[in-house]
Amino acid sequence: MTKYIVVAGGVMSGVGKGVTTASIARILSEHGFRVTTIKIDPYINYDAGTLRPTEHGEVWVTDDGGEIDQDLGNYERFLDVEVPKKNNITTGQIYKTIIDKEREGKYLGKTVQFIPHVPDEIKRRIAEASKEHDISIVEIGGTIGDYENIPFLFAMKSMERELGKDNVIYILITYLPIPSHIEEMKTKPTQQAIRLLSENGIFPDFIVCRAKKALDRVRKQKIETYANIPSEHVISEPDIDTIYSIPLDLEKEQLGIKILKKLELKPKKEPNWNEWKKLVSRIKNPKKAVKVAIVGKYVDIGDYNLADSYVSVNQALIHAGASLDAGVEIHWVDSKRFEDNSRNIGILKEYNGIIVPGGFGASGVEGKIKAINYARTHKMPYLGLCYGLQLAVVEFARNVCNMKNANTAENEKTNAPVIDMLPTQKELMEKSQYGGTMRLGAYAAVLKDKSQVLKLYKETGRLKEDEEKIGKLKKDKSQEFRLGILDHERNIVLERHRHRYEVNPKFINTLEKNGLVFSGYHLREDKTKLMEYIELPKHPFFIGTQAHPEFKSRLGNPSPLFYGFVRASTKNN
Ligand code: GLN
Repeated sequence: MTKYIVVAGGVMSGVGKGVTTASIARILSEHGFRVTTIKIDPYINYDAGTLRPTEHGEVWVTDDGGEIDQDLGNYERFLDVEVPKKNNITTGQIYKTIIDKEREGKYLGKTVQFIPHVPDEIKRRIAEASKEHDISIVEIGGTIGDYENIPFLFAMKSMERELGKDNVIYILITYLPIPSHIEEMKTKPTQQAIRLLSENGIFPDFIVCRAKKALDRVRKQKIETYANIPSEHVISEPDIDTIYSIPLDLEKEQLGIKILKKLELKPKKEPNWNEWKKLVSRIKNPKKAVKVAIVGKYVDIGDYNLADSYVSVNQALIHAGASLDAGVEIHWVDSKRFEDNSRNIGILKEYNGIIVPGGFGASGVEGKIKAINYARTHKMPYLGLCYGLQLAVVEFARNVCNMKNANTAENEKTNAPVIDMLPTQKELMEKSQYGGTMRLGAYAAVLKDKSQVLKLYKETGRLKEDEEKIGKLKKDKSQEFRLGILDHERNIVLERHRHRYEVNPKFINTLEKNGLVFSGYHLREDKTKLMEYIELPKHPFFIGTQAHPEFKSRLGNPSPLFYGFVRASTKNN
């Protein structure tokens, strides 16, 4: 039977509840358990697909095409598993299911009410996502005291009643502020969070205390007395340099063993943190350093939000750096600077490599194209992610193939739409069925023999890993379409997508003749060939991908393209 750990946040959001949950998951899996994680987002949106990244952070994409809150990304990065979209539950999904059922007459004339129908649907979804796991960790989004998360707390309490207290435990992750004028750590907001939680009949079994500094004896005692829990269940989690040291720090407090004891479980194996420790120490003290410019459109938002909108790109660079013992210093460069004054492009020489990440719309695009042109002509390592591939194709068409009007149809009507929507997608757009026009989730790509891309997937062991996953996909009828037509069984990889436009098949010949190499493609079931990778053979590293490989990067298992890019950047001094 699955046992449940409910994680709730006290005091305020943004204190690292997601990474703490992910760390606990990793710890328990190191003790030999099959662990899964579920994120509850109490908003009414059905999923995160329509949320603005600059407001809510990056939209995470799952293998099965879900557009989800970025916490699922933390779970995957720490647990090293693929988390499906059903592991994200929103208020929108709950109500939509209930109302759809009501319209279909499935409630047989009964009054449909908040209790029991809402908690029942929540429990059904949680149980479904937890199947085949020993431990399921349910992270409730938002902060205790929010009206929106009450139904979810209610559902968990009801699950506890059904399954028994040994099978459902609660962890409160709280924050202890240190107001600068008194320089003293305050426990009062935490006490209030404990009280608010108790109003829902929930008493935390563990309290993880986030703060600038470690908790001292006096504060610890105050919290344990107030919450009525043993002293060793109050865990201190002070600020750290890298999120990847959190599992190690929590293990120093023996959190894993303590949780297992509370759940009446015995560890199945001795954790082995050696590899993880080595990578964390490299992140902290790398041998080499590289400076990477991420060129994008950044309108009126600070650095903090930017790092949040591109969390996975950021993390993928850290992972690649850790494997190569290189510290990656990331600079967010606004592409508009290159549009306002073309001499500004010279600032790019300060960097060891350039990335153009995913994006939408025309704003800042000409500046990005200038940056790509700089990388191509100055032999500077370049990695294009999704939009970054599309714009590299535009740049190449304009400046190498002499197609002055080349552009993406997303931005303007042109007689040279080298990037365009496919006819089947256009039909859907005309019917306003925007949902169906995006290519979402994992798709297979067949890689070209002897290409740089293939070499990188081989070298990092990903080619082998993906082979196994392809075997599994073949058996899953609902997801089989992700493979498309495989003309042979070799050199196939899987990466996640989230985009609407594609390299226009009409221009592929011209681009190829002029020296652009398409190093991988996806053959759709209707036989349309979608280009997945580009590279330039005579360049030290110029690679673009239509996918978002950053979603599959893990500490200790970096994304092949990021690995290649960071390595090339370390050589470009
Ligand atoms: N705007 C482009 C498209 O829709 C690229 C999207 C992206 O970078 N994720 O195809």
